[in-house]
Amino acid sequence: MIGVLGGGQLARMLALAGYPLGERFAAVDPSPECGVRDLARLIVAAYDDPDALDWIAEHCDVVTYEFERVPAASARRIAERTPVHPHPGVLDVAQDRLIEKELFTRLGLATPAFVAVSTRAELEVAAASVGLPAVVKTRREGYDGKGQFVVRARADLDRCWDELGGKDLIVEALVDFDRELSVLAVRSAAGEAAVYPVVENLHHRGILRVARAPAPALAPELQSAAESYARSIMAELDYVGVLAIELFQLGDRLLGNEMAPRVHNSGHWTIEGAVTSQFANHLRAITGRPLGSTRALGHSALVNLIGTLPDPDEILRVEGAHLHLYDKEPRPGRKLGHVTLVADDPDELQERLGRLRGLVD
Ligand code: AMP
Repeated sequence: MIGVLGGGQLARMLALAGYPLGERFAAVDPSPECGVRDLARLIVAAYDDPDALDWIAEHCDVVTYEFERVPAASARRIAERTPVHPHPGVLDVAQDRLIEKELFTRLGLATPAFVAVSTRAELEVAAASVGLPAVVKTRREGYDGKGQFVVRARADLDRCWDELGGKDLIVEALVDFDRELSVLAVRSAAGEAAVYPVVENLHHRGILRVARAPAPALAPELQSAAESYARSIMAELDYVGVLAIELFQLGDRLLGNEMAPRVHNSGHWTIEGAVTSQFANHLRAITGRPLGSTRALGHSALVNLIGTLPDPDEILRVEGAHLHLYDKEPRPGRKLGHVTLVADDPDELQERLGRLRGLVD
């Protein structure tokens, strides 16, 4: 049995990918209503509940997680008895934007200029050193644009400090990127690695709305550069499983923003759009099986369904549309499902995407 910390849509899609491979699942989640509830043995408990963690460690052959805010101590407690992939040390990196950016820099992946800050005086100095506009982020616990403040002028620093002060922060230059990209890769315990085509991501209010894969008109040099960054980060971390790295493209340069040590929303297109989905490859990696090809099958787009659900039949009438619902109660800003479109060529994809976007908020 495979254990998953977190029982949301990522755990749900891992389970859906695992059944054909003969796997069974257990998940820990504080909510009895979580998306994996009908697909896994669900342990309703806090992520630091020792009984739940010990149950998972005892009954599962391997344990993974679907989100990076899992307490590292919980992953470590399980790892004393059962393999945890990616290993808990990866959480220490992925939970801290400073450590993450230092790792990127050390491995040659440039980032927006950044400075760590913990006092009001340091904030002043950091803003002057990275230059304005800048974005101030909490080092830990931030996600989907939460815990962030854009400072456009020195006069904004007081409000920024009122909002975020008291936590460890990182001040980053606000870069004027051409577009946002992500690269997903997978590595096995034996060190075998494979990288998916780079994806172009469109966010709105900090949440991914649309992704296109392979990223349209991406220079082959940027695909190779992204691949080599992903490979070296995975090798450095002795990583096992799927890793996502979020990037900014500025002309012919890539900058690293952050990484997610897990399957990732920008990789959902791989279910229908790649030879092996990110979910199947993550499971292959953590269970010690051979990895599958990461090659794209045609051109894909992913559209997230956020807050409200459109009429499913309207979606299903669009040729090449695959509907995935997460079995969650609609709520503003909540990811309720996604649609993947697969087409033979970029024009066909664009036409279908236009039709689909007319149906989705
Ligand atoms: P994050 O939580 O770091 O992924 O940031 C959320 C979003 O804010 C990103 O997807 C970008 O759109 C934007 N963003 C974050 N950092 C920067 C930056 N240094 N420069 C420009 N935009 C940024």
